[in-house]
Amino acid sequence: MYQPFTPPPRRLMGPGPTMVHPRVLAASARPTIGHLDPAFAGLMDETKALLQHAFRTGNALTMPVSAPGSAGMEMCFVNLVEPGDKVIVCVNGVFGGRMKENVERSGGVAVVVEDPWGAPVDPAKVAEALDRHPDTKVVAFVHAETSTGALSDARAITDLAHRQGALVIVDAVTSLAGVPLLVDEWQLDAVYSGSQKCLSCMPGLSPVTFGAAALEKIRSRGSRVQSWFLDLSLVMGYWDSAGGRSYHHTAPVNAIYALHEALVMLHEEGLENAWQRHRDCHERLVKGLQDLGLEMLVEESARLPQLNAVRIPEGVDDAGLRRELLAKHDLEIGAGLGELSGKIWRIGLMGEAARPENVDYCLAALKSVLGNQLTAAA
Ligand SMILES: *Cc1c(COP(=O)(O)O)cnc(C)c1O
Repeated sequence: MYQPFTPPPRRLMGPGPTMVHPRVLAASARPTIGHLDPAFAGLMDETKALLQHAFRTGNALTMPVSAPGSAGMEMCFVNLVEPGDKVIVCVNGVFGGRMKENVERSGGVAVVVEDPWGAPVDPAKVAEALDRHPDTKVVAFVHAETSTGALSDARAITDLAHRQGALVIVDAVTSLAGVPLLVDEWQLDAVYSGSQKCLSCMPGLSPVTFGAAALEKIRSRGSRVQSWFLDLSLVMGYWDSAGGRSYHHTAPVNAIYALHEALVMLHEEGLENAWQRHRDCHERLVKGLQDLGLEMLVEESARLPQLNAVRIPEGVDDAGLRRELLAKHDLEIGAGLGELSGKIWRIGLMGEAARPENVDYCLAALKSVLGNQLTAAA
């Protein structure tokens, strides 16, 4: 007979999903109610207010998309890029590459600004591209590149784009709640995130927020958004109380209970305190890694606290070490992606993972497994 599935007791310290607090898990297990129930409408309003708080924005159009971060990404591109639109896409890792793919699939013309993997986006290169392409409609970049652990200067890039009348699309999947992300102060036009990174909720939802200029661009579109599910003007009819909360799709009711609880916990802690906790744990981790003789990929000034890319030392079996961490220590860390595959590990300190006891556990496990490998090799 089939048995109920019992997951092993993992410590998730990779690039997401991260560990989920029991309060959030418990919230998701509460009885399902209708997605048009007035009680659920109240929860939607509160979730929206809590998301506005986390994004530091007053944008009315702030909500979770009913699908993972990649859907938030796609929502931004299909609504803001019309066929023929020129879009500058900054690529310094895997997710910038996906943005380029989204521009092209939306019928846009991508102008790529490249930086080495592990480096932040260079605003000087963005300025140069804007000079060469004054007809640019959108500049797209990843705030926190999870594939490399580099943090880019969202404000500087946005200022350059706005000076030339272009909008920005910002990937904040890993930055939200882990490092400062000030949507209104930096005047970010369209921003998407994910539930399973520093918000420490389960995967499956993508918080998004759109400012006035982005809405204006959507309203003035000459062509229909090619995706029915992600067409903001239709989704708004459900998420916006002014839109009458008409049926668009069945919201993942229990997932929203969980997101709400995760956001309540973030609110209780205080956003600044959460940023500081991620930074403190990062410093503790980096010091411990240095004591083990390990090196970081990213230069200190651009390091993401919540995603630590560590160079794999010569002679160490990457996959073997990660297998052993999982089998003997129930610890998951991330592998390198793309051109960094086999070259780095990615240690996530996202949300609930960013606790000193997890940092110490990870360092002790790494020390033990690295020791075994080096003894075996000798
Ligand atoms: C995780 C991640 C995504 C994709 O999110 P999914 O929930 O996996 O679809 C996009 N961008 C960045 C920077 C990410 O870290």
